[in-house]
Amino acid sequence: MMWNGRWLNKTLLGYWVVIAACWAAAVVAGWTVPSSQFDNYVYDLMLRLNPPGDQNPEAVVLAIDDATLNEMGGQRNLRGILAEAIQLARRAEPTVLASDVLIADQGDAAEDARLEEALTGAKNLILPVDTTISGGGGERWEEPLERFRKHAQAAGQVELARQRRDGVTRRISLEWVAGHRRYWALSLEAFRLSLGAGRILESRDEIEVGDVVIPARLTADYHRMLWIRYGRRPVPALSVRDLKADPSRGQLLRGKVVFVGVTSQSLTPDRVLTPNGDSMSGVDVHAEAFETMRRGLFLQDASDSAVLGFCAATALLAGLIFWFTAGWPAYLSAAALLAFVHTAPFPFFAHGVIFPYVAPAASAWLTVAAAASYQHFIIRRRLRLAVAEKTRYQQAIHFVTHEMRTPLTAIQGSSELMGRYNLGEDKRKQMAGLIHSESKRLGRMIQTFLDVERLSDGQMDLKREPVPLEAAVEACLARARPLAERKSILIRGDGPFPGTILGDGELIEYAIYNLVNNAVKYSPSGTEVKIFSAQKKGGVSLSVADQGIGMDAKEVKQIFRKFYRTKRAEATGEAGTGIGLSIVEQIVATHGGQLEVTSEPGRGSCFTVTFPVAGEGDHR
Ligand code: ADP
Repeated sequence: MMWNGRWLNKTLLGYWVVIAACWAAAVVAGWTVPSSQFDNYVYDLMLRLNPPGDQNPEAVVLAIDDATLNEMGGQRNLRGILAEAIQLARRAEPTVLASDVLIADQGDAAEDARLEEALTGAKNLILPVDTTISGGGGERWEEPLERFRKHAQAAGQVELARQRRDGVTRRISLEWVAGHRRYWALSLEAFRLSLGAGRILESRDEIEVGDVVIPARLTADYHRMLWIRYGRRPVPALSVRDLKADPSRGQLLRGKVVFVGVTSQSLTPDRVLTPNGDSMSGVDVHAEAFETMRRGLFLQDASDSAVLGFCAATALLAGLIFWFTAGWPAYLSAAALLAFVHTAPFPFFAHGVIFPYVAPAASAWLTVAAAASYQHFIIRRRLRLAVAEKTRYQQAIHFVTHEMRTPLTAIQGSSELMGRYNLGEDKRKQMAGLIHSESKRLGRMIQTFLDVERLSDGQMDLKREPVPLEAAVEACLARARPLAERKSILIRGDGPFPGTILGDGELIEYAIYNLVNNAVKYSPSGTEVKIFSAQKKGGVSLSVADQGIGMDAKEVKQIFRKFYRTKRAEATGEAGTGIGLSIVEQIVATHGGQLEVTSEPGRGSCFTVTFPVAGEGDHR
């Protein structure tokens, strides 16, 4: 097939538009909730595949568990238990003592006094704050009572709930703002005190504690998210009850960062799930977050532009693969691309970057599918065009050989007679005249054929000369008469034929002649063919009516198809190539005219062409 430049450009453009659309669709799909849920599952898998090395944890949880509550007076004595836990822990001299038990409201006077006593003089003590919805609907802080607060080095935020979507706590926020006050997370404060650092420095993208830089960008809602690198085993825990029963166990807490909190299954409603599938209480999560920071195992989300760029690159690659290769090489390369896209997030994760899974995968799959089907479609189209081209060519050859045989036979016959016999002057002149006119007809035929070919190819501009209808009709009738006379058919030109058509005289004549010739061909002898004209709005019509074999409605629908001939016509032995009417239709159409047929089997047909007539201004 010829690669027509314009077609190629259009195909190329269409191809890349489809690829770009797939890319955009994939990126948008990547933002939907189900996609991010799936991204989360892949994240969990990657986290499990990349456990932090089992270094000695620095955090220990001092747990107020079910056993502790059972033995030490239950929830009602929580403040008493806390006081005792802190007292016991302090004896072991931990580096930091962070409590997760809220003490924002007044309790039993004796218990509060006990607790205050336990807190007095504590080193590196952190007390919890939490937000609550105030009466006005806004958020406000629940801070420890001042009598407790004054003994603490810092207060840290302990809320987790808002970081959970599917029940799995993957991240916590290091920063919380409510009612114009900001608190850092309990775990971050514990980390700061464990380093002996002063202020926490902050920029838009990170915070700095001591000389540790934590990548945690400030979000639009004033949070800084930290991905928690849960260890293979949870941070070690010691039950308050066990510590009380055997104070020597306090050794476990020496020099450690101790998180005191309630881990009781029955008392902590906000137990959370970890990506490892463990169930934890809030205090455990704080300890894990602290360990993440201490080990410096920070994970960062890939930037939006990196994700978009990566998706675009996969789309581009898919497009290039199917543009430049085909068949097995294309499918193998596409498979390699898909495999790469599906595995790419894993090495990224190992380097601390969290890459989404769905968007690039969707982008690769969609673009590969689109590119493959586009290619399939192009190949099929090329094949179809090639086949059509070949049939057209064969049919054209058929037409040419068939149509040209008649004049050629006449020329051959006449020239042979002239050569073989000594003819009289008159006869010789007649023969020469015949040869001349037949060869001219042959020439005209070739010209018409070529013109029509070029016309249908769109390569030729239509000639626009004034063609008087009268002259064109007369010429056609003169040409058709000999055949009509041979069949004893009367051709009646019911003139006048007024009007001038703007167009190509040769082609118009070809069209009219064809209709008249068909009328004669498909009529039995003794009948009449009538040609008449009528004025129409904005044009002139010319009708050719015969009393011949006619056609039924089904046949009429088909006759303008190239190479179609009715059975009826074939039976007469007159049928030609079946191409004439298709050319007539084309000629009429290119002249802005119309072609109509009415016909009835056995009664005759009437073909009417309507041409727009040239207005005065159209004469050039
Ligand atoms: P052909 O060379 O076969 O005449 P055309 O394209 O001119 O090719 O005509 C197509 C077919 O339409 C003819 O084969 C014939 O069956 C039918 N047809 C055309 N003109 C007439 C007519 N005046 N009366 C009956 N049938 C006709």
